[in-house]
Amino acid sequence: MKPSVKQTCIMTHKIVRAALQFGRRWYSNQHENYAKIRNIGIIAHIDAGKTTTTENMLYHAGKIRRMGKVDSGNTVTDYLPSERDRGITVQSAAVSFDWKKYFINLIDTPGHVDFTIEVERALYVLDGAVAIVDGTRGVEAQTRMVWRQADKLQIPRIVFVNKMDKPGADYFASITTLENHLLANTLIMHYPIINDNEFHCVADAVDMRITGKEGDDVFETELDKHVHNDIFDECVIIRKNLIEKLSDIDDDIAELYLGMYSDDVCKFPSNILKSSISKAVMNNDLVPVLCGSAYKDIGVNFLLDAVTDFLPAHYNSRIASSVNVSDKLIAYAFKVIHHKQLGPVVFIRVLSGSIHSKNMIYNASKSEEETPHAIFRVFADEYQPISNACEGDIVAVTGLKNTATGDTLHSSKKDNGNILDTISIPQPVYFCTIEAGSPTEAKALEICLTIITREDPSIQVKTDATSGQTTLCGMGELHMDILVERLRKEFNLKCYIGPIQVAYREKVNSKIKDSMVYEKKLLERTHNISLALSINPNAKVDDCSIKFSNISASADIAKAVKDGIRQACASGPLLGFPLIHTEIKVLDLKVITKSPPTIITAAAACMTTELLQRTQCGVLEPIMDIHVITNGERLPDVLKCLAQKHAEILQIEGDAQEKHVSATAPVSEMLGFASLIRKMSSGNADLTMKVAGYVEVPDCDIERLRNRMLGVYD
Ligand code: GDP
Ligand code: MG
Repeated sequence: MKPSVKQTCIMTHKIVRAALQFGRRWYSNQHENYAKIRNIGIIAHIDAGKTTTTENMLYHAGKIRRMGKVDSGNTVTDYLPSERDRGITVQSAAVSFDWKKYFINLIDTPGHVDFTIEVERALYVLDGAVAIVDGTRGVEAQTRMVWRQADKLQIPRIVFVNKMDKPGADYFASITTLENHLLANTLIMHYPIINDNEFHCVADAVDMRITGKEGDDVFETELDKHVHNDIFDECVIIRKNLIEKLSDIDDDIAELYLGMYSDDVCKFPSNILKSSISKAVMNNDLVPVLCGSAYKDIGVNFLLDAVTDFLPAHYNSRIASSVNVSDKLIAYAFKVIHHKQLGPVVFIRVLSGSIHSKNMIYNASKSEEETPHAIFRVFADEYQPISNACEGDIVAVTGLKNTATGDTLHSSKKDNGNILDTISIPQPVYFCTIEAGSPTEAKALEICLTIITREDPSIQVKTDATSGQTTLCGMGELHMDILVERLRKEFNLKCYIGPIQVAYREKVNSKIKDSMVYEKKLLERTHNISLALSINPNAKVDDCSIKFSNISASADIAKAVKDGIRQACASGPLLGFPLIHTEIKVLDLKVITKSPPTIITAAAACMTTELLQRTQCGVLEPIMDIHVITNGERLPDVLKCLAQKHAEILQIEGDAQEKHVSATAPVSEMLGFASLIRKMSSGNADLTMKVAGYVEVPDCDIERLRNRMLGVYD
């Protein structure tokens, strides 16, 4: 019996998947043609379906035989135990796969507000992003946040309206939220086919094709006017609108639309439309919006086509155009993770030239040479060794001893190339004390903390020089919880954790100026360093600025002095919190003996600390900007919750359905706020918070804070 058109399409689809599975073995290492590489990120609010969409993409690409489910804890990209237990993404995971003739490096990012830095450093090296929107909820709070981050980095985007299978999902209403809340200039691409409240297929108005599921199999076929009647007509309307929107920004399209194809938009060649859309996406003029259901495996094949058709190739990307491309290596390290067997693994984006295992390279940010032991193609937690990686690629490298997030790598010191900008890491707002479960585990804890801080630049570990007490600082309660859980589960460490407390700041309230002499006898030699400093309060300075007056000092000595002053400023004189709003000037500097930089640094730190102890200082508490989105019905619960936390309400906006509440509160009140609001609103409130500024803590409260830090409660 002759197979039907639909059956033929299903067979073709199966063959493509099988070919991709087989082809992977030879193709993955041969993608020298960087025009065919796409480096993309998946971004969105928590639960929109980023991980599920990634899983479905891997399935279509033939990388996995069966789709894992977030709720069963067996997806490829949520591979950490903390992620599988909680069903949320904590760290961004990289996967690479082939799609048709393209090679895609994809990063699945976390959506929770505590992991904003994790998203930002991934976005920094990506050329394009797929933003996922839950079709039943439209744009949510964290989507706004990541959208703004993508705006800042000018990342071209496409949107996938997911969960179209859920009752109440609405593609067109979701598009309205994109336009209203994100001010996105959207381009409607699809038409969802929902019959009897069940989502079946997606039709694409550019290619005039339709895809869906028949039993377990995906079919994909051309739209036929006679078979698909109404759907065909709907797509013609969408196509017409799309061409008109493109005509507004592309004269060539306008000319063709008014001329050669004025009588029938169906005749307008889709390849011309696609190249115009691609240009508009690259210039951030338009955002194509697609739809489907990753969970039900509908529409993600079209999404993959859109990724390759519309998102930029390496040579068109923002980050590649920021360097002078040549055959010399320029690479950017954007992430470090600790692998149980491989040790520290550094993820890099190669912007120019190539990197080869065992060939020495130069870390221009740290001014030191490094030698990669091995280079790997990454598939979540699987590592496949490759001998080299070329321009445009994202790979993992082992053997780099000191390279950290934000470092620029060159072929050699002689290259003298530029050092790329790095993302700024906000200061942590919470901390807790941490102690090893037994004296024998103290060393192991120290090693684990070093590993964890190299992995996550938004974590800080501090040890008090006098008490020896170690503290762990992070961005939020979930961030800290997961960190401690990782120490226990992943590193098998017993440790005692103190309660989560606020990471305050300190500042100087009065000016001081003095000169001091530091003298130390070491190995029969006396080191003699004299330093004159002035310390001034300056609210315009974010943290601490260190400047030199007209003094002649070699670059090495100046750096050693700066390091020492910075060390002292990291631990203020009142409670040991970092100083902010402080300006320090080095007025005079004399190094009488030939002292090594470590001694100069120690001298500068010692003298700065002494001077700080003689000034008047104050303690500052971070103030959080709070933004809650909820429905009209839940607004009273949200307001009650904010009142309980002594928040000041600044504004309530929105209509009867959606309310936006802006408020501010000191960070000490915010402990437990996220879970309280979740409970009181039964999960119907979206919360985002960020540090907005600082207020000074009254002097009478400082003693109470000091006692609390020592574990004495009043
Ligand atoms: P992420 O936080 O954005 O990575 O979202 P996940 O992929 O972890 O998905 C969150 C929840 O939504 C999980 O329970 C998924 O099973 C579910 N989900 C994801 N995509 C879909 C979809 O297309 N349809 C439905 N009905 N549920 C989905
Ligand atoms: Mg996820």
